[in-house]
Amino acid sequence: MNKNQLNQITPKRIAIMGSTGSIGTQALDVIRENPTYFQAEVLVAHSNADLLIKQAIEFNPNAVVIGDESKYQFVKDTLFSYGIKVYAGTKSIEQIVEMETIDVVLAAIVGYAGLASTINAIKHKKIIALANKETLVVAGDIVTKLAYDNTVNLYPVDSEHSAIFQCLAGEFDNKIEKIYLTASGGPFRGKDREFLAQVTKAQALKHPNWVMGAKITIDSASLMNKGLEVIEAKWLFNLTSDQIDVIVHPQSIIHSIVQFTDGSMKAQMGLPDMKLPIQYAFTYPERILSKFPRFDFFNYPQLTFEKPDTETFTNLALAFKAMEKGGNMPCVLNAANEMVVQAFLEDKIGFLQMSDLIAQALDKMPMIQTPSLEDYIQCDKETRLLTTELIKK
Ligand code: NDP
Ligand code: MG
Repeated sequence: MNKNQLNQITPKRIAIMGSTGSIGTQALDVIRENPTYFQAEVLVAHSNADLLIKQAIEFNPNAVVIGDESKYQFVKDTLFSYGIKVYAGTKSIEQIVEMETIDVVLAAIVGYAGLASTINAIKHKKIIALANKETLVVAGDIVTKLAYDNTVNLYPVDSEHSAIFQCLAGEFDNKIEKIYLTASGGPFRGKDREFLAQVTKAQALKHPNWVMGAKITIDSASLMNKGLEVIEAKWLFNLTSDQIDVIVHPQSIIHSIVQFTDGSMKAQMGLPDMKLPIQYAFTYPERILSKFPRFDFFNYPQLTFEKPDTETFTNLALAFKAMEKGGNMPCVLNAANEMVVQAFLEDKIGFLQMSDLIAQALDKMPMIQTPSLEDYIQCDKETRLLTTELIKK
């Protein structure tokens, strides 16, 4: 498709799964700025009915879904006069992606909760703009195979993976030797375990470069986010563990790097702003004009790089270990992580306990070498129960 054709076509109709979240609201910013190109066809939230209603009134989607069924009547009554269809419940979230009028599904629900709708969207041959990295961590083998079998493209929204994807444009069959995923290092970069033992959730929720949802912000502080991204990269780009390296780059300007077999390295850079990778996932392979602030070299006289401290931040090492073991171990890692992050946010456990409990869950859960989807679903449930017990101890 050339640029003229892109201008002439009707807007892409996008289902925003998780429209009330950090990615969801930024996706709506992108849509608001580019009504010629994009249209919000479906909006999905979990419980933030007020924001969902506000978004529906502004963007006039075909349908909205609220996960929390107790809010159904309120959303339905409020949107009655707008002629917008309203559905509720987990099953509706999974099913809504089947709508024929959806062109692209933005998977931006947080955590394991995003898995079912993404799988169903792939089965119904929708283009996927993938923010929900947990989907690939939990069941990367099944999800990528399903996408392959249905000739569905998974366009990464995660900034590092979007960077790799952008570096690969035009490289066709050229092989990747290695990728370098960059990490900001989070708010506790350079701190020791003694310091980490005392940190509060308020400190952990203050990310130096990105404003994101609570779960991913804690994951960034604990370096689990980078661990999940390593596994996400393995599946998106078909890589082995020794082809993936993590490099701390506190300025978050270089979003990631690909090294090819001739030694050449390509990096994608720009100011940290998730709207860019969101928009690129919507327009790929085209680029469209944006008003995003431009990078000024003189505001960043130094771009620096460090080795990640995996002895202090053990989560990154745990994620590599789970990935190398394979089978259901990344699913265990993810479920245990979701539980400990929740417990940390509820002040039930300290910052360092999070990694300790994940390590225990990985040790205790039985290994399944080639899990089915049902095995993954069961493994997620059992790991949550086990981790809940471990948290109580
Ligand atoms: P937020 O917590 O800000 O938003 C999560 C969204 O998911 C909300 O719309 C929320 O609805 C909805 N949601 C939560 N639980 C459920 C559920 N059980 N069923 C249906 N919907 C649910 O998260 P982010 O936007 O920060 O992150 C979303 C995903 O994108 C994550 O997987 C994250 O790792 C990934 N990502 C995020 C980045 C960022 O910059 N934020 C960067 C790269 C990746 P409600 O508001 O009603 O609760
Ligand atoms: Mg990222």
